[in-house]
Amino acid sequence: MKLVSTAGGSPVVSFEEATKRGMAGDGGLFCPVQIPEFRRGEISEMRRMSFPEIALAVARLLLKGEIPDTDLEKIVRESMSFPVTLHPLRRGVNVLELFHGPTLAFKDFGARFMARALAFFQRGENGQTTVLVATSGDTGSAVGQGFAGVEGFRVVILYPAGRVSPIQEQQLTTIGGNVTALEVDGTFDDCQRLAKVAFADPGLSARLRLTSANSINIARLVPQSFYYFEAVARADSDERPVVIAVPCGNLGNLTAGLIAWKMGLPVRRFVAAANANRVFVDYVEGGSFAPRQAVPTLSNAMDVGNPSNIARIMALFPHGVETLREVLVSDSISDVQTKENIAHVHAHYGYILDPHAAVAYGALERHGADNCGIVLGTAHPAKFLEAYDPALRDSIEVPAPLREAQRLEKQSIRLPNRQEALNSFLLDH
Ligand SMILES: *Cc1c(COP(=O)(O)O)cnc(C)c1O
Repeated sequence: MKLVSTAGGSPVVSFEEATKRGMAGDGGLFCPVQIPEFRRGEISEMRRMSFPEIALAVARLLLKGEIPDTDLEKIVRESMSFPVTLHPLRRGVNVLELFHGPTLAFKDFGARFMARALAFFQRGENGQTTVLVATSGDTGSAVGQGFAGVEGFRVVILYPAGRVSPIQEQQLTTIGGNVTALEVDGTFDDCQRLAKVAFADPGLSARLRLTSANSINIARLVPQSFYYFEAVARADSDERPVVIAVPCGNLGNLTAGLIAWKMGLPVRRFVAAANANRVFVDYVEGGSFAPRQAVPTLSNAMDVGNPSNIARIMALFPHGVETLREVLVSDSISDVQTKENIAHVHAHYGYILDPHAAVAYGALERHGADNCGIVLGTAHPAKFLEAYDPALRDSIEVPAPLREAQRLEKQSIRLPNRQEALNSFLLDH
């Protein structure tokens, strides 16, 4: 995989270099120059393969020549070590459950793969790498857990004070060891900006061997393409084309889906679902991109006003938004509708959607009729208990890893929303 910066001002780099650097020197994101396609028949073969086998087939096609095959196999096997399950709600509507990893959100796929890929690329090197990550809730704990105890790495998590759910905060502030949580007086976009400016500072970046584990890092995106193939392999879609509804925030998950589509994933279309933070919906509809301040919603991991992966989507669809519209529709679902969807699905199918999947479900209902619909279930509902009415809340079983995190004491450091504050923290600690 050869990559160039979306800002157009840096030379072609390898997957190794893009993974190590996180972001290009010109402030852009690394994006594949060309995306390899599966040969005819290879994708239908996947119906007979397990998820780790599918993941390895996709990884091989994307990363041929970048990581020796035995090492790649080990990285894939170790990072894709929990189940992906397709849960049917009714004929034509399924939830692909991506939340059976250690932090109970789909971000475990990207974080675990990236940690192992980076550790592989840095084997034999001395000194410490600082992984800096901004989180709207789920990324922080996934990346923290992904790198916890990995020698040669420390993780610094930036999260917006008061804007992640209590349980998410417990998860990301109780990892300890080589993982530190910074509680920023600001929004997620502020956290993301602080991180981006730090990466763009060549002195700081080199001195701390700084790398990003946000979905701006290409090693987070690559493994997210794996489960799209799993979804299609497991879907019972002999007659009807597959439509995949993706709950969108920073657009990393959607970008991974679009990469899978370019590799030949047979889907009719994607439904890019947003909450009230609808900059991407407006882009798809109107063709111009205008970042806005994020507003808080029930599906807080999607509260993003300036999604970083928009640059990659534009690079993957260089002929404009019309070509993007051929493969996706985008829609926004309010908190009121989200609650209604949760109640409806519970009443009719006995299933509890998390608020993010409930947004995607709502958008699929509008745009997926008559197809084989798959909603990406990005998190376990127990991570968002405060989003539910008391009666429903009580029927959600809290899985063991969450109960464990709740027992531990929160450890975070308050950080003013200023670049100097972050930079001096990074240099002094
Ligand atoms: C991060 C997250 C999203 C948004 O994913 P992006 O890749 O940022 O678009 C959706 N749902 C949940 C539960 C998340 O944690």
